[in-house]
Amino acid sequence: MITLALSKGRIFEETVPLLRAAGIEVLDDPERSRKLILATNQPEVRVVIVRATDVPTYVQYGGADVGVTGLDTLIEHGADWGGGAGLYQPLDLGIAKCRVSVAVRADFDYASAVRQGSRLRVATKYVNIAREFFAAKGVHVDLIKLYGSMELAPLTGLADAIVDLVSTGNTLKANQLVEVERIMDISSRLVVNQAALKLKQQAIRGVIDAFAAATKGTSA
Ligand code: AMP
Repeated sequence: MITLALSKGRIFEETVPLLRAAGIEVLDDPERSRKLILATNQPEVRVVIVRATDVPTYVQYGGADVGVTGLDTLIEHGADWGGGAGLYQPLDLGIAKCRVSVAVRADFDYASAVRQGSRLRVATKYVNIAREFFAAKGVHVDLIKLYGSMELAPLTGLADAIVDLVSTGNTLKANQLVEVERIMDISSRLVVNQAALKLKQQAIRGVIDAFAAATKGTSA
């Protein structure tokens, strides 16, 4: 049995066509069903629905053999700094593309604040990414960890700036915020439990190869 960890929403929706191309049909819709374990048309493959931030944890500790997760989530999990031991990242799937950016209120002069060496209050869910970015720029920041609705922070005076995911930019615009720096481009990655890769080598190699073939063209 191969267990694949996915999160609801964009990652699930954009992974389904890749699974289909690999001959795997998920038999339930997580938006309609309350089931957390979803069967597929292949008796030896099942999907578990977990929170996006829990996908690396499930795969790292073997609750799932493989998973699909954003690069942002992987970095925050610590996968790039050795905290993700046991996680193998074989593929950029080229899906759920977006970027991590810094945004401020339209009337906040970010460039002057940075030039003058002001201490900035930055609200974000992505504290590792934000800490690294501002440290590399030599900007002093007080980071405020939030779990959602980051756009509210500059509007209520909680913070001067936010670090958040931006796709079309519509959410920022609707809240009178402007993007002032692009920190990094994000896409979703296939992650694999290293022990599972050894123990179920043939089956997992098959899944990786099928994803690789299905991804050709989307990740370019
Ligand atoms: P947008 O209005 O298209 O710029 O999208 C921004 C909103 O969608 C923000 O609240 C983001 O947190 C969220 N978002 C954008 N892209 C992604 C993604 N690939 N994965 C998860 N959330 C995203």
